Amino acid sequence: MIVKEKPKAFYDTFERKGAGQKVTHYCPGCGHGTAHKLIAELLVELDIQDRTIFLSPVGCSVFAYYYMDTGNIQCAHGRAPAVGTGIRRTHKDAILISYQGDGDLAAIGTAEIIHAANRGENMTVFFINNAIYGMTGGQMAPTTLEGQKTLTTPLGRSSGRDGNPIGMAELMNAIKAPVYIERVSLSTAGKVLKARKVFKKALENQIEKKGFSFVEVLSPCPINWKMDPVEARSWMQAQLEPIYPVKNFRDESLLPPPHDDTLPQMEEKEMKQLLSAGGAIPEGKNPAPDLEQRVKIAGFGGQGVLSAGVLLANYAIARGYQATWLPSYGPEMRGGKANASVIFSSRAIGSPVVAVPNVLIALNTPSLISFEPDVERGGLIMVNSTLISDKVKREDVDVLYIPASEMAKESGVMATANVIMLTIYLKYKGLADTEILKKILPLSVKRKDAVAVNLKMMEKALTYFEEELT
Ligand code: SF4
Repeated sequence: MIVKEKPKAFYDTFERKGAGQKVTHYCPGCGHGTAHKLIAELLVELDIQDRTIFLSPVGCSVFAYYYMDTGNIQCAHGRAPAVGTGIRRTHKDAILISYQGDGDLAAIGTAEIIHAANRGENMTVFFINNAIYGMTGGQMAPTTLEGQKTLTTPLGRSSGRDGNPIGMAELMNAIKAPVYIERVSLSTAGKVLKARKVFKKALENQIEKKGFSFVEVLSPCPINWKMDPVEARSWMQAQLEPIYPVKNFRDESLLPPPHDDTLPQMEEKEMKQLLSAGGAIPEGKNPAPDLEQRVKIAGFGGQGVLSAGVLLANYAIARGYQATWLPSYGPEMRGGKANASVIFSSRAIGSPVVAVPNVLIALNTPSLISFEPDVERGGLIMVNSTLISDKVKREDVDVLYIPASEMAKESGVMATANVIMLTIYLKYKGLADTEILKKILPLSVKRKDAVAVNLKMMEKALTYFEEELT
C-alpha cells in the first residue's frame, strides 16, 4: 500500500508562517511546492535531513525556512552559492542545498553561481526557472522568452532591446568543474518523476563528495503568466521546453577520481605573511586576561586611518592577543571618509565588526559626529583637537583632547598624527610596551623612508603623555 503523507523533512505545522499554519505561501499550481516536496522526500530517503543546510534565496522561495526542518540560512540576493562556499570551508560534512530562482541566480547572483561552479564546490544547486520574476510581480527575468509578455515587457521581450533568454544549464556546461548538470521540467507527472531521480542523483553526488551539481528546474508560475495551472503546464511544453531543452548536459559522477574535497588550508606562516608584514611579527605570550578593546579609528583618507588600524592590530598580536582589523573607506583615493575597526582580545573574536566601540579615536569632525553616540558607556573618546573644535557632548565617557595634527606638523608628515594618537591611547590604557611598539611600527609603515619620522613621533607622544597627562 502506498501511503501518501507529508515528508518528515517538512515541519508539521509552519509556525514561522503563523501559528498552526499547514499550507505554504505559494500560489496554487506553483512549481515551488512540487520542488520542495521532492527535496523534502529525498532528505528523508537519503537520511541527510540532520546535516542539511538549506540556503534560501531572495524570491518567491525566500520563506523556504518556514517549511524545511533543516539548518536554514536566508541569503542575501544571489549570494547563496557564496554563503555555501563559506559554510563548506568549516563544515565538510554538511549537505548544502542552494535553492535559487531565475532572478536570484541568473541576474543578481550571476557572478556567485559561476565562480562557485568554477571552483567545483561540493554543493547541490536547484535552479528554479520560471522565466519571470515571481515575487516582485512578474517583471522580465534573464530567462524570459523572446516575445513573452511581462510587467516590464508588456509587448513582449525583444532580443534586440532586452537581450536573449539565458540558458543557465548551457552556461554551466561551459565550465569545466561541475560534475553534474541537468535540466528537468515539472510540466507533467512523468517529468516530475524524472526530476525526482535527477534531484536524487544531484544530492547523492554531494553525499559522495563528488563536487558541484546543478539542476535547472523548469517550473510553472501560473499567477504571473496569467494562466490557470493546467494552461501553465501546457505552455511549458509548447513554449518553454523547446527553448530550454530538458536533458542531461553532463554526468561525470562515475568518472574517477572523485572530487577532492580536501580543501588546501592556508599555512599559518602564509597567513601571517598576508596579514602581518611578511610574517615578521613576533608572537606574544600571556596577554592580560579578560581584556577586549573594540577600537574605532576614524578620519578622512590620507590621515593614515587604515594603517593606524594595521599597526594597532599587529601590535596586539605581538602582545599575544587575538586581533582583527576591518577597514571601511569610500571610493576616493584621498579625502573621503575612512575608518578602521580593530578588536583585540584575550579570547577568540566572533566578528570583526565594531558596532559599539569602547575606544573612539576621532581624527576629524565628521568622525566625532558619526561615532560619538556609539561609544560604550565608560569608554574612551580621543579627539584630534587640532582639527576638531567641537567638544564631546557625552558625559558618561572618558575624553582626551590631543593636538595630534599640531604635534605631527613638526615632523613634516601630517599623517603621523595617527601614531601619536595610538601611542597615547596605549599609554593611557596601560597597554603600551614601547619596545614591542618600536619593533612593530617599522613593519606596519608602508613607506620605509617614513619609519624614522613615525618613530620620532611615537617618542614625542610618550613625552607628551608624561608631561601633560600624568
Ligand atoms: S508568483 Fe509564481 S513563482 Fe511565485 S509563488 Fe506564485 S506561482 Fe509561484
